[in-house]
Amino acid sequence: MLTSLVELAELIALRTSPQRAVELLGLIPTSALEAMRRARFRRTLRIAAERSPFYREEFRKRGIDVGRIEHPSQLGDFYTSGEDLRSQGAEAFRVRHADTAFETTGTTSPVPKRVFFSRREIADMGRLSAIWLHVLGLRPTDRVLSAFDCSFWVSPYVLRAGLDLLGCFHVEAGKIEPGEFFDRARPYHPTVIFGEPSWMIRFSEIARARGAWPVKFLFAGGENISESARREVEEIWGAPLYLNYGQTESFGALGAECRLKNGYHRNDLYFFFEIKDPDSDGYGEIIYTTLSQRAMPLIRYRSSDLTTLVNQPCECGISMGRLAKIRSRSDEMVVCGMGNVGPWVFDEVLKGISGIGDDWQVVIGHAGSRDLVEWHVEVDDASRRGAVEASIHANLRGRFGDFWRNRELQLYELHIVFHGVGSLRGHARKLRRIVDHRQMADAAHVLTV
Ligand SMILES: [Zn+2]
Repeated sequence: MLTSLVELAELIALRTSPQRAVELLGLIPTSALEAMRRARFRRTLRIAAERSPFYREEFRKRGIDVGRIEHPSQLGDFYTSGEDLRSQGAEAFRVRHADTAFETTGTTSPVPKRVFFSRREIADMGRLSAIWLHVLGLRPTDRVLSAFDCSFWVSPYVLRAGLDLLGCFHVEAGKIEPGEFFDRARPYHPTVIFGEPSWMIRFSEIARARGAWPVKFLFAGGENISESARREVEEIWGAPLYLNYGQTESFGALGAECRLKNGYHRNDLYFFFEIKDPDSDGYGEIIYTTLSQRAMPLIRYRSSDLTTLVNQPCECGISMGRLAKIRSRSDEMVVCGMGNVGPWVFDEVLKGISGIGDDWQVVIGHAGSRDLVEWHVEVDDASRRGAVEASIHANLRGRFGDFWRNRELQLYELHIVFHGVGSLRGHARKLRRIVDHRQMADAAHVLTV
């Protein structure tokens, strides 16, 4: 009864004006919200067990009786991973009619993960996006330009759903060269600009050279950004740069920053969050379970991102708890100006190049405000360095068009550093193939969240 009343309040809140919605959602007591989340969780679990071949089989194997489960933590060692999505296929997870699908690529394998969604989910997420953008100050009189990549990516879709409700002017440019975007965007006098962080950094460098115009805020999603790069972007525009945190699998935002930018306020209405194997600081892999009525529910989905849950109240006054800024990935994948890259990407680029050793290492760092991808490669003959470097460039261009394009857009710098064969590993048994130095600089910030 209580749960249905809360769901009714939520329903009314999400269908009213964004301002009223914030007020109404803030009135729902935490205990009532928790009761609703648990009820939604039980419903998700029941439907998944009935209709999804993947979940049915996994629960059967583990002897899980879903009727007795009240909280995700009671599912023991059961998790869903990106590898499950890839190997089982999206159909094995689907429980309802799907209207669209999005994909993620370049994580740990060349095979994309496909995720199905319904129009109802798009509408629901659009409403929440509208409310959040309203909280950040977006109004119907604003003029929005977006440089989100439209290719199989969920973010432009969610953004459009939100902006349609807010009713503001909106032009979708796609992820084009930042200089071209600058010239073509300016005549529209945009007051709010959306893009990926590495793109936003390059775009802002161009704005510094050619002249920024007054904007209300900038909004970036899709990857992390260092606090020093964020400050630089904000100085150029004289306006805040907000980030959100999400995955295509989650259909957009798992959380988004408020004006204080102290972590991401969690979307507790639609997700159950857990931290897997937390360390002494409470940091571990973030796991989420979807609670909305999804075409393809995800139960205890492993995000591969390391963070912690922050439950102390935020000074902005919004009652929803937060996720701290993402510290790093638990797999070897990194998200940087090059794109979402894992070891397999670099293996693939080196394939077929003669005269190189078996070992290589990529170190991600900063080159000014941009990401630096420093690729250490072993060659047996120093005179072949030029030829090897040319082959690396040719293979990157031919095999990974997107990563090459991001280089042409100057979203990152690529340096190839040569070593003698056998020298990279030294005496180590295992060579860490991707090392991300960027998180060091941000560790101080994370600790203050
Ligand atoms: Zn806040």
